[in-house]
Amino acid sequence: MSGSKDYYKILGVSEKASGDEIKKAYRKLAKANHPDANPDDARAAERFKDIGEAYGVLSDADKRKKYDQMRRLGAFGFGGGGARPGGSRPGPGTGATGTGGISFEDLQGFGSGIGDMFSSIFDFGKGRPGAKQEAKREKGADVEYVVDISFETAARGGKIAIAVPITEPCATCDGTGGEPDSKVSLCPECKGSGQVSFGQRGFAVQRPCPACFGRGMIPEKPCASCKGRGEVRQERKIQVSVPKGVDTGSKLRLSGQGERGAKGGPPGDLILSFKVKSHRFFRRDGLDIHVTVPVNIVQATLGSKLKVRTIEGKRVVLRVPPGTQSGTRFRIRGQGIEKGDRVGDQIVEVEVSVPEELSEEEKAAMESFAEASGLKH
Ligand SMILES: [Zn+2]
Ligand SMILES: [Zn+2]
Repeated sequence: MSGSKDYYKILGVSEKASGDEIKKAYRKLAKANHPDANPDDARAAERFKDIGEAYGVLSDADKRKKYDQMRRLGAFGFGGGGARPGGSRPGPGTGATGTGGISFEDLQGFGSGIGDMFSSIFDFGKGRPGAKQEAKREKGADVEYVVDISFETAARGGKIAIAVPITEPCATCDGTGGEPDSKVSLCPECKGSGQVSFGQRGFAVQRPCPACFGRGMIPEKPCASCKGRGEVRQERKIQVSVPKGVDTGSKLRLSGQGERGAKGGPPGDLILSFKVKSHRFFRRDGLDIHVTVPVNIVQATLGSKLKVRTIEGKRVVLRVPPGTQSGTRFRIRGQGIEKGDRVGDQIVEVEVSVPEELSEEEKAAMESFAEASGLKH
């Protein structure tokens, strides 16, 4: 049954593989097992079919999610396992199921939900062996992009303009690199593998074959739009509303802003991953903002009112009591980072600075202070 295949194993990727990794693995395997590259090899043809099937499911975020769910339920008798208490290895006398998983037949017994989901993922009975996938609309790949943002924007939110470089399949040739009616033949340079190795004295490095752009096949008539590359690079300029309180590693998904979909399929998503720049004065700890403020010995000794700037640009008066020691922290409530319905505090640490040089007059005053207070020096 086709539904019992381990698609991750077929593509040789981990369950956590990204869309890009899956695509890469697929392209490589599809090339190596392509029927044109392996004439009269029935097993390669079978593998080629499996690879296409696996990619069809794993490259589609929705299908993949459902497939992962089924996998976790143990529907296929391999992997997953998380949902099966008591370990995955059946001991003696646990029954004759062998793998300990739930079979497809068991799932049908659950009634509507899972059975429907199952058939909707895999389209049982609809697949025509050897049929080309040309009618299949494919969702474009998700694109992940790291965006540097200022400390203030991360804390307060705001609009930023970014230009994201996106490489996507050429719309004219749908990524094949050839004119629609062009015949394709095996690349003589790489013999269809899509890779060439170069190097010297015992070590070789693999890189995509320059003759066929890594596809392993060469079209007779290269696509005029992309010069046979099969992909186009472009810069997507977008305005992004950064929500309040993002931190380094926070992600924002912009649906439909990723790669164009093949065959008229919907575009993928753009996933922005934020990287927050450091600030001259402010440091961040969760939702709290720390700042160090210098005070002089008179302010620390006799007490003072300081004006402290907050992340929102306000100036808050902070009362420093007489006799404040260096390193003392004051908490200004509610002046930290706001996120959802929570808000942090601003924590001000005072640092007492001692004068490096004194005039004769100041020195004399200091001496009389020492005498009055009985301090030795
Ligand atoms: Zn093209
Ligand atoms: Zn080649």
